[in-house]
Amino acid sequence: SKEQGRNQFSRYNRASHSRNGADLALETALRQALDNDEFHVVYQPQFQARTGELHGVEALLRWNHPTLGPISPTTFIPIAEQMGVIGELGRWVLQHACRQAVSWREQGLHNITMAVNVSVQQFYGTVDLAEQIRTILVDKGLASDRLEIEITESLFMQNIDEMRANLQRIRDLGVKISLDDFGTGFSSLSYLRQLPFDTIKLDRSFVSDINQGREGNTLAITIINMAQNLHKKCVAEGVETEEQLNLLRDAGCDYIQGYLLGKPMDADDILSLSQQRRAK
Ligand code: C2E
Ligand code: CA
Ligand code: CA
Ligand code: CA
Repeated sequence: SKEQGRNQFSRYNRASHSRNGADLALETALRQALDNDEFHVVYQPQFQARTGELHGVEALLRWNHPTLGPISPTTFIPIAEQMGVIGELGRWVLQHACRQAVSWREQGLHNITMAVNVSVQQFYGTVDLAEQIRTILVDKGLASDRLEIEITESLFMQNIDEMRANLQRIRDLGVKISLDDFGTGFSSLSYLRQLPFDTIKLDRSFVSDINQGREGNTLAITIINMAQNLHKKCVAEGVETEEQLNLLRDAGCDYIQGYLLGKPMDADDILSLSQQRRAK
């Protein structure tokens, strides 16, 4: 149940995470940041491997603190999760990203997928996430099949039956579901079997192994083949070199994301990038 999920989480807080002073300072700053509009979202393009066409973007949250400067999401997301404000923050990102997708559409950029990271903890709040997503899509006027949510497997995914039901309700809306950082966790394969995913995101660590010796290539290729055999789309993330791109494309990977083809950027830059590509 939801109650159980929350309890599991607070048990984790108390038992295995001791907070230090820096975390507490960040926690205070994070509370203020929500009120003070210190967050923004950048978008990293994802391209079709075969055609090079723009397929979609991943929305990535940014926090620019007035005195501390930019703080990485790898630092503040876990703190937001511990504080219990990830629900609010996650909702803000979803609203922002969906509004942006509609704004792009109005400016002529159609048919791109908006991928948004969702923390597993967003499933355990008092809010019904599927209902929240449905409301946001209706509010903003975004077609549900334009939205994809990315979920990282996590130790908190303890109640698999509940997670499957929640994911299925989101999927029933027409929203796509992606398994992020595939291959890095403890139970990627069993999640894949038990949960309804549309897309597998091949973790950056497998991509950076490419051309570092034969074994590295084998893992990336095997995961791509597995995605194909399971009729799931495969996205490679962290693609930084032409060699990686070529190998991934030849192996049948569907979509490519990484610094080689585009870093996370402001919304306007996505628009001009798509216009440049069309003019070619
Ligand atoms: P992620 O979801 O795995 O996102 C990919 C990260 O890899 C991003 O880091 C991106 O900037 C970075 N990246 C992309 N291409 C390359 C590349 O070619 N090389 C290298 N070295 N890195 C690349 P970022 O933006 O710092 O985000 C870090 C993590 O923070 C994300 O990992 C995600 O887990 C989390 N995160 C970011 N935004 C959100 C959000 O809105 N909600 C939640 N729950 N988590 C978020
Ligand atoms: Ca992601
Ligand atoms: Ca990832
Ligand atoms: Ca990650």
